[in-house]
Amino acid sequence: MSNLDMSQFLKLEKYSFGVGDRFARQGQAQLRAFVQAAEQGVEIIPVWNKSNREHLIIGSEPASTRAAAVAAVKALGWRRPFHVDADHIRLETVDRYLPHSDFYTLDVAQTIGHPAAPEALAAFVDRHSELVGSLAIPGIEHPFQTTRADLERVARKYLLAGQEAARFYRHILEAKGPGTFVTEVSMDETDSPQTPPELLVILAALADEAVPLQTIAPKFTGRFNKGVDYLGDLAQFEKQFNDDLAVLAFAVSRYGLPPTLKLSVHSGSDKFSIYRPIRRGLARFQAGLHLKTAGTTWLEEVIGLAQADGSGLALAKEIYAGALGHLQELCAPYATVIDIDASRLPSPTAVNGWNAEQFVGALRHDPANTAYNPHLRQLLHLAYKVAANMGSRYLYALAEHEATIGPNVTANLFERHIKPLFL
Ligand SMILES: [Zn+2]
Repeated sequence: MSNLDMSQFLKLEKYSFGVGDRFARQGQAQLRAFVQAAEQGVEIIPVWNKSNREHLIIGSEPASTRAAAVAAVKALGWRRPFHVDADHIRLETVDRYLPHSDFYTLDVAQTIGHPAAPEALAAFVDRHSELVGSLAIPGIEHPFQTTRADLERVARKYLLAGQEAARFYRHILEAKGPGTFVTEVSMDETDSPQTPPELLVILAALADEAVPLQTIAPKFTGRFNKGVDYLGDLAQFEKQFNDDLAVLAFAVSRYGLPPTLKLSVHSGSDKFSIYRPIRRGLARFQAGLHLKTAGTTWLEEVIGLAQADGSGLALAKEIYAGALGHLQELCAPYATVIDIDASRLPSPTAVNGWNAEQFVGALRHDPANTAYNPHLRQLLHLAYKVAANMGSRYLYALAEHEATIGPNVTANLFERHIKPLFL
């Protein structure tokens, strides 16, 4: 593939944020943060995302995600674009999203490591002689040194994933038609990070398959646990992030991928300490960014409930006790992205004795507050199933305590996420 026809895909804007909330009640509160950013001169496009896993755990339908986004956009008079992301879908799960989503995150992580057919592998390596030898990428200090055997090894690991992404993409294209959706490819939910030279091979494979991806979510070095800050070597992260940006720019010009192609950081919420390195990298490469931080809003809901005191605080405590009672069950689907030390989780009796300030202090992601407890926060991050099981009782509480919930949702997105990244 050389030059993609821009009319073949829906263009994604330079800065976009994957947001969303478990129960589709915080659309306006989230959108307000984007309105505030726009007022301060930065256009960030909201992408409402909800993974298939979330829909399954809650028992919600993809239509509800779009309905909530549309309602918020209408209510606040948002005139810029917005999108609805079918997050982490595969061929077997995509169909029910087709009428409702205009953004598709094709999750090919589980194919990584499974080799493609020998003929396809040989053809790929033959076709990409430019990837063998010394390859200087503008913006990367040392040229990549790759032998044919290296390329074969990397292709064995990733070519099938590229072919699979193409199969998912073509299925969606056939159903929705050209120019109607944004394509992302995600590989973050796997064991080992992809190195920048591996990312280049992956992009070459996707370009060969004519997948007009505009965002790609590699797995980065370090731990991205749910709802808590990044754990890892920041200098190493920054180097990888910069090298990845250089690789993307190179792949756009070399393989004719969409000029809007950018990195997608699946943050698992609240990776505050990498925002500064990300910001520096974006400035250096004049690059765009897609950052997913949807789970953070559910926790602001719980904070808002607790802050309301009375019945709201009681409900927040009930969710915590319910979560603690189902610790193993809640952790299972998220095992690779949490580090909860059960001995650091307060007992329900202790929590029941807390006032609103103590509960909020333990939960709110403020590392400077000595009351902050990242173990409790991670557990509550997974606890939306407990709230889902409360059914309408939980939804009524959200409506009743909107006055304390909404401002937390907006301020969290704007102050802790948008501002450090873009303002
Ligand atoms: Zn992800």
